This record gives sequence, structure tokens and C-alpha cells, in this order.
Amino acid sequence: MDAPAPIDLLALARDMIRRPSVTPRDAGVLDVLEAALKRMGFACHRLPFGSGDSGPDARIDNLYARLGRGKPHFCFAGHTDVVPPGDTAKWSLDPFAGEVKDGQLWGRGAADMKGAIAAFVSAAGAFLGAKGQRFNGSISLLITGDEEGDAVNGTAKVLRWMEENGEIPDMCVVGEPTNPEKLGDMIKIGRRGSMTGYLTVTGVQGHTAYPHLADNPAHRLVRMLDAIVREKLDEGSAHFQPTTLQVTTIDIGNPANNVIPAAARGVFNIRFSDKHSSKTIAAWLREKLDRAMAEIGPGGSYALDIKVSGESFFTAPGPLSSLVSDCVKAETNRVPELSTTGGTSDARFIRRVCPVVEFGGVGQTMHKIDERVAVSDLEGLARIYRRILERVFA
Ligand SMILES: [Zn+2]
Repeated sequence: MDAPAPIDLLALARDMIRRPSVTPRDAGVLDVLEAALKRMGFACHRLPFGSGDSGPDARIDNLYARLGRGKPHFCFAGHTDVVPPGDTAKWSLDPFAGEVKDGQLWGRGAADMKGAIAAFVSAAGAFLGAKGQRFNGSISLLITGDEEGDAVNGTAKVLRWMEENGEIPDMCVVGEPTNPEKLGDMIKIGRRGSMTGYLTVTGVQGHTAYPHLADNPAHRLVRMLDAIVREKLDEGSAHFQPTTLQVTTIDIGNPANNVIPAAARGVFNIRFSDKHSSKTIAAWLREKLDRAMAEIGPGGSYALDIKVSGESFFTAPGPLSSLVSDCVKAETNRVPELSTTGGTSDARFIRRVCPVVEFGGVGQTMHKIDERVAVSDLEGLARIYRRILERVFA
């Protein structure tokens, strides 16, 4: 087989940004990617899941592509969906035009993470161009359209399909934008867990002038939230920051100043270290809340609903993180920090099946107005990915 024509990194990234693939819509972005991968000889599988138009079971298109059947099997994972652009009038350039200006590629998804996918495809193209298809092993891409949304019909289900079809890789790099400021800052070897608590306190409605005839749930809520905010859950660990709890909203919606409300609600989000699981935190919360209720005195009741977005996960520093770290250093002359900071990612699903680390572009503008990435960083990232492939298949 002749070596395929090299992939134009910038052209591919721009083509992808021009497809406004706001979750759960695909808008043709996977067609763009699949066409590029097919030209390189990848066997491509489209894996749609879900049936709704919106919500948690919205139909999502996913793509799994593999070149070669041998081992080691290296997988690159990422997502083509993007968050909404927000007020487009506030953007300096059209968020879905994929324009290049002042050395930057602009648009929704440039940083998070269409740019990184294009960088990986061009790296694979350059690697194969030099090696032909004669390399020991196989390269795959696990690309989902459901990372920024509910992540129900995305990576988790693609992985199940991969397990059923004997496609589980030996190692995986996720191309999320891991660098806070400069290419080479940071590799992520895990992430904190995330869970949200919805606390509803019920009392007895009444007249503010006759509080002895009522039971004010707002007073209970304040004391209960104080009880869970006041104490630290842990001090962190060798690879994790301390667990944090942030109250995100307190809702009563009472328009009358002479009425004690019947119910009050508070919502809080917890980012937790490996010192905890969602179960141990749920038990901690109930203990604190029960005690606060008892201290306030009889009456009132509460309900606590908990939604777990993900447990904490972690790949201990080892062969994969050193390999990626070496490649980052060779390209940028910087030693990246191995970190578990930031929000959760699809690596939480992949961790179950193989070692996984995350390394991508610079995340400074992700999810923001005027998302953009330096073209030189994209090119640097592609060179790092190529070095990773050369090391894995050496
Ligand atoms: Zn992302």
C-alpha cells in the first residue's frame, strides 16, 4: 500500500470546528474525521446509541477506528461534541468559522478538543507516512459525541462494545486540554470525583408574627448547610488536592415577607479526593445533617438526593505516564506536572480497562467566549503525539 497523503492538521481542525456539534448534535463532524481516517487505512465503526432528541437518552453518534490488529494496541480518546457558544455577538470571530488570526485558531472546540483530535490524526499520518503500515501493533481512536453532556451514550457504551468485540487497548491517551498555560505544563493521571447533593428541608408554613405556630425550614437549611461547609472532609493525599464542597444555590422563592415558607432547598457540589468514595461522603453528609437537625430541635424533615457524576480515579505513575512525560519533555524541554486537578473526564470510564493518562493542548480558553488555540501549540502537540507513537511502537 502506498503511504497516504499527509494530513493537513490545520485544515482538518478548521473543518471540524465548522461543524457546530453542540451536544447532542453531531452536525457532520464525525463524517469529516472518518473520511480522514479512512484515507489512512483505518477500519471505522460508527456506534450510535440512544433514541431521544434531547435529554440523557439523546441519540449520540460515536466513532471507533482502528488500524492494524497487532499488539501493543494504542488508543487515543477524545470527544467531538462542544459546549454551546453562548452569546455569539460577544465573540470576536464567528465561533463556528474556524478562522486563523494572529497565529491562533479560533472557534468553539479549538481547545476542547477538536484541535487535539486533528493533532493526533496528523501525528498518526506522519508516523505511518514514515513507517508505512509495517509497525508492530495497532492504533485506534475512541471518539465520542457525548462528553460535554450526560456522557450516557458515549465513551462508556463504546467501551462496552469494544469489550464485546475484543478491541480493548493496552493503553490510552485522552487528548483533553490538560495544560493550564503552556504546552508541557501538565499531564493528568487521574481526576477527582464529582457529586451533587440536592437538599430539601420541609417545615410548617405560617405567619412570621406567630413563629411558634410554624417551623421555619429556612433556618434549618442554613444550619444544615453550615454543618457540612464548616468541616473539611480530608486533607488530600499524595496525588490529590483536598476534597471541597461548594454550595451552588439556595432556593426558597418566597415573595411574601410575612410568610414563613413551607420548604427550602439547597444544592451543593463536591469534588473529592481518593480518600473518599461517593458512598463514604453520602454517609458523612447524612450524619452531619441528622445531627444538625437534632440540634435545632424537633420538627421538620429533610430529603437528600445525590447525583454522582464520577468517582475519583487514578493511574499510578508508571510506564505510560513516564513515556508521555519523556515525549513532552523532548518536545517542549519542560517536565510536566502529573496532576489530578480539574473536572472529571471520560478517562474515568477508560481507567476500568487499561492504563490511561490525559495530555492535550492549552486549556486557558476552553468553554469561554473567544475559545482559541495557538497554531504553534497545535503543531507542537502533533509532534508530541508522534513521538508517543514512535516510543510505543519502537
Ligand atoms: Zn473536553
